[in-house]
Amino acid sequence: MEYFINVILPIPLEKLFTYSVSKSEAEFLRPGMRIGVPFGKSKIYTALVYSVHNKPPVVYEAKEIHRILDEHPIVNLYQLEHWQWIADYYMCSLGEVFRSAVPSAFLLESETLILRNDRVEVLESDLEDDEFLVYEALQHQSTLKVHEVNSIVDKKNILPILNRLLEKKVILLKEEMYEQYKPKLVRYVKLDTKYLSEEKLEALLESLSRAPKQSQVVLSLFQLQAVKKKPIKVSELEETSGGSKAVIKSLVDKEILEEYFIRTDRVKYEGEEENFALKELNQYQQQAFKDISRGFEDKKTVLLHGVTSSGKTEVYVKLIEECIRLGKQALYLLPEIALTTQLISRLQDYFGEKVSVYHSKYNIQERVEVWNNVLAKKPKAQIVIGARSALFLPYSDLGLIIVDEEHEGSFKQFDPAPRYHARDAAIVLANLHQSNIILGSATPSIESFFNAQTGKYGYAQIKRRYGNVLMPEIELLDLKEHTRKKRMKGHFSKRLLEEIKETLDAGEQVILFQNRRGYAPIVECTTCGHSPQCSNCDVSLTFHQYKKQLRCHYCGYHMALPESCQACGSLSLDTKGFGTEQVEKELETLFPDAKTWRMDLDTTRGKHGYEKIITAFEQQEMDILVGTQMLTKGLDFRNVSLVGIMNADSLLNFPDYRAHERCFQLLTQVAGRAGRTKKQGRVLIQSYNPYHQILKQVSTNDYEGMFKEQLYEREQYNYPPQNRIIRITFKHKEYNRLNEAAEWFAQALRNALGINVLGPEYPPVARIRNQFLKNVMVKIPQNQSLPKTKTVIKRIEKSFNSVSQYRSVRVIYNVDHI
Ligand code: ADP
Ligand code: ZN
Ligand code: ZN
Repeated sequence: MEYFINVILPIPLEKLFTYSVSKSEAEFLRPGMRIGVPFGKSKIYTALVYSVHNKPPVVYEAKEIHRILDEHPIVNLYQLEHWQWIADYYMCSLGEVFRSAVPSAFLLESETLILRNDRVEVLESDLEDDEFLVYEALQHQSTLKVHEVNSIVDKKNILPILNRLLEKKVILLKEEMYEQYKPKLVRYVKLDTKYLSEEKLEALLESLSRAPKQSQVVLSLFQLQAVKKKPIKVSELEETSGGSKAVIKSLVDKEILEEYFIRTDRVKYEGEEENFALKELNQYQQQAFKDISRGFEDKKTVLLHGVTSSGKTEVYVKLIEECIRLGKQALYLLPEIALTTQLISRLQDYFGEKVSVYHSKYNIQERVEVWNNVLAKKPKAQIVIGARSALFLPYSDLGLIIVDEEHEGSFKQFDPAPRYHARDAAIVLANLHQSNIILGSATPSIESFFNAQTGKYGYAQIKRRYGNVLMPEIELLDLKEHTRKKRMKGHFSKRLLEEIKETLDAGEQVILFQNRRGYAPIVECTTCGHSPQCSNCDVSLTFHQYKKQLRCHYCGYHMALPESCQACGSLSLDTKGFGTEQVEKELETLFPDAKTWRMDLDTTRGKHGYEKIITAFEQQEMDILVGTQMLTKGLDFRNVSLVGIMNADSLLNFPDYRAHERCFQLLTQVAGRAGRTKKQGRVLIQSYNPYHQILKQVSTNDYEGMFKEQLYEREQYNYPPQNRIIRITFKHKEYNRLNEAAEWFAQALRNALGINVLGPEYPPVARIRNQFLKNVMVKIPQNQSLPKTKTVIKRIEKSFNSVSQYRSVRVIYNVDHI
C-alpha cells in the first residue's frame, strides 16, 4: 500500500498539496506536525500535515518529503477547524491563515548552503580574486552560508561570484532548513568540583592571595552557593563580588570556576508571587454579572454594555476567576493599542504567574514560548491576554473569551490576508470549544447591539460609573462663532483656554485630542496654489515641523521642506489644517509653565514607546497630553479632569458609511478619560458644525438615539448589519489596465448578481506606493446566500484570470469590510 499526506503550504495556494511518505512515516505523522517539503524548482517550505491517507494525487506525481520537523503536533485539531472556517469565510487560502497564525519562527525557510566540490581539481590560477577568497574559505570549513560569503568578499551582491564558481565547478549548492527559534540560555557559574572541600578552598585562596579581586570573587561565590542552595548566575556573582567580567573570565580560564548554561523562559512575570484579593462588585456590576451568567447558560454570546469607567474590567476579572477555577483556559482579547502595562499589571495583581501576554511587539522567541506554554497547557499560560493574533494560539480547553473594546475597527485585519475580524472569529472559536464568550464596550458596534436587540446575543448593562462619579459634562463650542467674534488664539477658543488654565491651577491634568499627527496635513503655495504631493501616492505630504520634513503617511516617503514653491518658485508657502505637533507647539507659548507631551505614532515607536508616556502621565510628570486616537483606548488615569477635542469635523466628514458610528465611539471614548475617580470631568468639543446630530448625541450620551438613527440609514442603503458586504479591490501599476480589468469584473458580477454591485470606484487615495486602486462593493441582502455569492465571485475570478492581460491585476477580497 502507498502512503500519502496532505499538507498546508504557507502560500496563497487554494489547494492542499499531496506528498508521498513511507509506511513508518505515515504511522508517525499526525495532523498539526510540521515537515519540510520540496516545492517548485529548489525551494523547501515548512508545511503542516493536514491528513494522512492512501489516495495518490490525480494530476501530478507526489514528491517525497524532505524531513519531519516535529515529534508532536504543534497545532491541534481545534485550530485546523478554526483556520478552515477563516479561510472559507474570508475568502483566502488555508496557507495564508497558517502563515499568519503561527509565530514566524515556526516557518523555517530553506537557506542556501555553499559546499566545496571535492570531485573537481581546482586550478587556483583560474580564479579571480574574490572567487579565490570563497574557495579558500571553503578549504577551512565544509559549508558557507550566503551571509558569510557576503562578509568574506565584502560585497552585497554575491550572486555573480557564486554563479561563476558554479560554472567552474568549484562549488555546489544545497538547500538546508534552519531553526530560527533559539532557546534563551542563561550563564551560570560554580566552583570547580576540585575545590569543594574546605582545605582545597583554603589552599586556593592562599594561592590567590596576590590577586585580591580574584579571591574576592571566589569567596563571594562560595558564600552565595552556601546561602542560596541553587544555581548562581554569572550576573549575580558580578553584582555581589564586585568582580568584573574579565576577572571572572580569567578564573574560568584557569579552571577554578566552571561556566554552564540553563534554558530559561524569556517571558517572565517579575512581580510578587502573592495575589491581590478580587474586588467586591457593587450592585450594578453584580447585576451585570448575573445577566452575563444567564446568557452563558443559554449558550449565547453576551454583550456587556457599560459606560466608561463603570468597572467592566473588574467584572471580567470575576469571570476569569470562575473560568480558571474550573481548570479551563481564558483568553482576553484587546485591540493592539489598548494592550497596556496598566491593564496587564492589573491582571497580574490578581492572577500572578498565570497570565501570559501575546503581543506583536514581542520578538519571535517570546512568541514561541507563549505558544509552547499554551500547547503544553502549562498553568503559567492559563490566562492569555493579547491582541488579535492571540486568537491563533493552540488552546485545547478554552472556558472563556473576553473581547474588550469590541467596537474597535482595528480588530479587523486589513493587510495581508486573512482579512479576518478577530471578534467574529473569536465567536466561532468559542463555539468550537463550547466556551463562554463576552463582548464588552462602552460604545458597542452597531452590529453587536443589533444582535443583542434581536436576541441573538445576551445583554448586560452598567449605566453608572464606579463610585457613582457622574459622567463627564460635555460642552460643544462653535468655532465659526468664536472666529467671527475673534475669540480664538491659534486653534484654541478662549473658552477652552480658560478651562485649561483653571484645570492646571487646580493641579489637575488635561488631555487634548486631535486626530492628525504631524504639524499640518497640507503645505500650499499662496501664489499659485500648488501643494507638494507624494511621488508614489495620490496624497498631499504632511508637514512635520520638528524634522522640517514633508512626509507621506501612506508609504513613508519624505523630503526636506522646500524653501520655495516647486511649481512657481514663490517663497510664500503656507500651511493648511493642523496636527498634534502644531497643537503642542501652540501650547508652548500659551502655557509656557505647563509640561506638555505628545502621544502619536511619531512619539511611540519602539517596544516601550507608549508605555513610557502613559506611565509618566499617570505619575503626573506632565500636565497636558496631546494625542491622536491612541489615547482613547481604555486608559485609566486618576487625575484628568478636562478633555478637549480640538476639531471634531474631520471625523464627521469621512466618506464612509461607518463614519458617524466611529465618530460617536471615538469622541465618547476620549471623553471617557475625564473625571474617572471623584470629581465629575469636563469635556469641550470644538467644531464648525456644533449642531450636527452625532455631536448632540455624544454630548447627551445618547447611545440608543445614535443606534436607531444609524440602523435606519444602514437599512435604507443596504449596509450591515441587516446586509453583508464584500469589498473587492483591484490593484495594478498601470492605470488603464486597472480600469479595464475592474470594469470587466464588475460587469460580470452585475450579470450574475444584479443591482447589488457598486462601482468600480476609486478610493479617496487612489494610488498608494505606485499602485492604482479601484473598489467594487458587493452588497448581499438577507435573503441571498453568502456562501453561494462567494462561489459566484470565485467563479468569475477564474474566468478573469484566464484573460491574459488581466492576470497581473491583483484581486483582494475583504469580507465584512469595515
Ligand atoms: P471600565 O473598564 O468600565 O472603563 P474600570 O474597570 O477601569 O472601568 O474601572 C474604573 C475604575 O474603578 C478603576 O480604577 C477600578 O479599579 C475601579 N473599580 C471598578 N470596580 C470596582 C470595585 N468593584 N471595587 C473597587 N474599585 C473598582
Ligand atoms: Zn507656487
Ligand atoms: Zn506615499
